[in-house]
Amino acid sequence: MRRGRKPAKDLSFRDKKIVEQYNSASAAVPLLTKKYCISKQRIYEILKRAKRMGYVIKRQNVLALYHDVHQCEVCNKILKIAEKDELITRRHLAQRLSIEVDACNRHLDSLKGSGFISKKFATIRSDRLVQALQCYKYESLPPAAVGRKFGYKNFYSILSYQKKKGINVKRMLKSPLVSNLKQEEPMAIIPAMS
Ligand SMILES: [Zn+2]
Repeated sequence: MRRGRKPAKDLSFRDKKIVEQYNSASAAVPLLTKKYCISKQRIYEILKRAKRMGYVIKRQNVLALYHDVHQCEVCNKILKIAEKDELITRRHLAQRLSIEVDACNRHLDSLKGSGFISKKFATIRSDRLVQALQCYKYESLPPAAVGRKFGYKNFYSILSYQKKKGINVKRMLKSPLVSNLKQEEPMAIIPAMS
């Protein structure tokens, strides 16, 4: 039952209790903060430390949820990237952040879990598809030409499939092409449906 300054070979009695209660779901984090008079952030740190020491932390999603995204440099970078462009693969995102994909996923899940970022962000796995969608979004090419360029026979069905999944790619065209578009592709997906 020694507490305090022991070198970090094991958790303190209190921290063990916290982990125990957290795992047994007998106390949610807000309750633990009250019970032990410590902050949410501190509980999160204790759980993280416990995990490093080999303790099993059961409710990992909740753990992710209490990751403080506002203070996290990586999360802030992800938010900035997401603001500019939602079309990116997780692998590419991790590359841009210079971190491992797994680590990147943890931050992403945390952001998604707390609703800071759309669940659809970085869900496309194929780099080629992302490039094609970006091309469709930014370049003044008719969709069929985009499909040809990236080797998709039916780019329209891909677009509508993505749209069904919740990824509605809106064209950011300068302007003159819009009328051409209507003629060439009568079934065009209407850019703004929100
Ligand atoms: Zn983060």
